Amino acid sequence: MTTDTGLEDAVLERIRSAIGRKEASLHEPMLYGNEIEYTRQAIESGYVSSVGEFVDRFERCLESYIGVKHAIAVVNGTSGLQLSLRILGVARGDEVICPALTFAATANAIVHAEALPLFVDVSESDLGIDFEKLDSFLESTAERTESGLINKMTKRRISGLIVMHTFGHPVDMDRGCALSEKWGVPVVEDAAEALGSRFGDHHVGTLGRLGVLSFNGNKIVTTGGGGAILTNDDTLAESCRKLSTTAKIPHAWEFRHSEVAFNFRMPNINAALGLAQMEGLPEFIGAKRKLHDRYRDSFSDMSEIRVFSESPGRTSNHWLNAVILGKNHSHRLDDLLRRTNDAGVKTRPAWTPLHLMDHFSTMSRTDLSTTEDLARRILNVPSSAFLVSRR
Ligand SMILES: *Cc1c(COP(=O)(O)O)cnc(C)c1O
Repeated sequence: MTTDTGLEDAVLERIRSAIGRKEASLHEPMLYGNEIEYTRQAIESGYVSSVGEFVDRFERCLESYIGVKHAIAVVNGTSGLQLSLRILGVARGDEVICPALTFAATANAIVHAEALPLFVDVSESDLGIDFEKLDSFLESTAERTESGLINKMTKRRISGLIVMHTFGHPVDMDRGCALSEKWGVPVVEDAAEALGSRFGDHHVGTLGRLGVLSFNGNKIVTTGGGGAILTNDDTLAESCRKLSTTAKIPHAWEFRHSEVAFNFRMPNINAALGLAQMEGLPEFIGAKRKLHDRYRDSFSDMSEIRVFSESPGRTSNHWLNAVILGKNHSHRLDDLLRRTNDAGVKTRPAWTPLHLMDHFSTMSRTDLSTTEDLARRILNVPSSAFLVSRR
């Protein structure tokens, strides 16, 4: 065994130089604007729960910022994904395609919708689904029939495709939509990490049939806990609103519901927090872009490691910065994690690939070699906006 700690020390020193301090957490929200004022107003109004003006104001604010016809605020991103799949017709026992390199919530939502994840590989260029590889898998394994796309190995219907914009970096939605069209499978964008990111001129989350945001405390904008479903389709939006609010038929006093539905509407008090956060979003994105540039400068002289960056024609919100170890250095990841965390610089590996966890190990999948390789080489580094912000 080598006792050489040169790489670990060099990486620690470069992170510290980029963030301009000795210690840092991985990601913390900035709550320095109107957050207290708006939540106070929500409390004073007496409307703290699923009815109230802040929910509407927050939704209209999202719609105008993103340039989408409908934003429907929900309790979290996971439930937004679950509801999206249900609305697009995913049924019990179906398979839904999703990347193996993603946060567990993506696949959990598929299971909550009574379907099964079909794990596919990701690409080293944007860390999202490798659409070329997926297309050849479908060529060899799937068949279009009258009842939909059928996986010939499992005989199950493949009724949905979730693409995920990893760490805020947009995937190639032209390719994603072309593949969806070719195979007749609707796309849901898991844009949980990517509020403010754009593919060409369009915000991500608006290019699939439905897109889902998360406002968990670790995301670029937080409502404490929360999410939103985005769509340009009036009918889908109507279904989202209805099914997220128990499908109650509007009436002055009567409790009558048109079907079994969910209680997924975002509470007013969370929306008040979110509205204040949206006022800070341009500043958060500017700060994150600046921080990303600092990481790039700081690591520019290292050949063993590179700072992961956006692809041409796509604008990332740079939610979470990642450095990627060269293929010959993947055995150093554990040492790097230990050295940096011990020194107070909170770094994290990417997610454990989902198919490697027991409860997902029997699910259908393609070859996942790039997913497994990348999971051994990605190191997420401190990325809070306040590290470079003026305030
Ligand atoms: C955060 C996140 C979610 C889930 O969001 P919650 O609001 O925590 O339910 C889903 N997918 C990805 C990729 C995420 O990062």
